[in-house]
Amino acid sequence: MTVYREVSELPRCGSCGKLLTVGGIEQERLGHVIWFCSDQCIRVFDSYKVPKYGADAIWPESLKR
Ligand SMILES: [Zn+2]
Repeated sequence: MTVYREVSELPRCGSCGKLLTVGGIEQERLGHVIWFCSDQCIRVFDSYKVPKYGADAIWPESLKR
């Protein structure tokens, strides 16, 4: 069965919010598996978002489902 995913079901990068239509990098952070679009975004997440926002840095749209 071929599954076409709706745009609303696609994950967004946990750092910049870009829609991940292809690829994406999974990283485990704060007990969740989060999608990122690039190594650069992972660095921004770790060095800026998490220290500033803690668990609130994680967007629900970026969690692996
Ligand atoms: Zn990104």
